[in-house]
Amino acid sequence: MLTIGVDIGGTKVAAGVVDDQGQIVAHTLRPTAADRPDVVAQTVAEVVGELSAGRDVEAVGVGAAGFVDETRSIVRFAPNLAWREEPLQKKIAGLVGLPVVIENDANAMAWGETRFGAGRGQSHVVCLTLGTGIGGGLVFDGRLYRGRWGMGAELGHMQVVRDGRLCGCGNRGCWEQYASGNALVKAAREIAEVQPERARILLGLSGGTIEGEEVTEAARQGDTASLAAFAELAEWLGQGMADLAAILDPGCFIIGGGVSRAADLFIDRAREEFARRLTGREHRPLAEIRLAELGASAGVVGAADLARQR
Ligand SMILES: [Zn+2]
Repeated sequence: MLTIGVDIGGTKVAAGVVDDQGQIVAHTLRPTAADRPDVVAQTVAEVVGELSAGRDVEAVGVGAAGFVDETRSIVRFAPNLAWREEPLQKKIAGLVGLPVVIENDANAMAWGETRFGAGRGQSHVVCLTLGTGIGGGLVFDGRLYRGRWGMGAELGHMQVVRDGRLCGCGNRGCWEQYASGNALVKAAREIAEVQPERARILLGLSGGTIEGEEVTEAARQGDTASLAAFAELAEWLGQGMADLAAILDPGCFIIGGGVSRAADLFIDRAREEFARRLTGREHRPLAEIRLAELGASAGVVGAADLARQR
C-alpha cells in the first residue's frame, strides 16, 4: 500500500510516495510561498497530483512547521509561515480528494526515525532536531505523544535560563537559544567579537558574517572559538537530555537536523554531560544517544506512515 508524505518547511515543500517499508519510491520538491497560506495548500495539491498519477495512493500525510491542533486538521500558529487558525486539512483534502492527516513536522520526523530509522525496535524515543531551533518529538509505548491539545513535545521551548536570551516564541531563556544551530553560531560570533585572537581561523573563513558551516569548518581546523562554541552546545544539549530523561525515562534519544552533520564535534561531550547530570545515574541504565539515519527525508517518511495509520 502506498501513501504520500509531504513536509512543508519555511522554504520548501518536499513530498514522496512511500511504501509500507518506509521506502520512498518517488519524490518531488517545490519552493514554499511562506506568506500565502492558500498557495501552500495549492502547492501540496500539485505535488500530490504529480506523485499519485498512475499510482494507487491511499492517503496523504502532511508534516507542517507549526502548532497543529488535537484533531490533526488545523494549524493554530506557525512561527515561519503565515498560518493562523489555518484549516489546512480541509483545504488540502478538498483539493486532492484523498484522506489527509496533518501533523507537526518534528512529530512526523520523530515518527519516521522511530519506525524506519535510528529508533527501529525502540518503544520509548525522544527525537531532537537541531537546526534553526530545536524540534522535538516523543514516541512512548510505540505511539506518538501529542499532548491534550496536540501541542506537546515543544522541547526547544523549555525555559532553561531565567530571563535569558529572547526566543522566537516570545519567551526568554528557551533551550533552543542555547543548543540549536542558531545558538552555535551566536556563541561563535560572541567569542569572535570579544576575543578575536581565538577566532582567527573562523574570521579568515567567514570574511564577514559568520555562518554555521564556517563554524564547523573552523572547528575542524582547530579554531579555539569555534571549538568552544561546540563545547557550549554539547553541554547545553547534555544537560537538557538529562532533564528530559528525569521526566520521561526514554530508552533512546535521536539527534537529527542540520547540526547533527557535525556530530563528531559535539556528540561525545554531550553524552558525557548527559551521563554526568542524569538523576539516579548510578542506579539506572543510560539511554542511548543515536544519530538520525533518514536525514531530510524523515519528515516525508513519517508523515506518509502516519497517514497509513490514520
Ligand atoms: Zn521559545
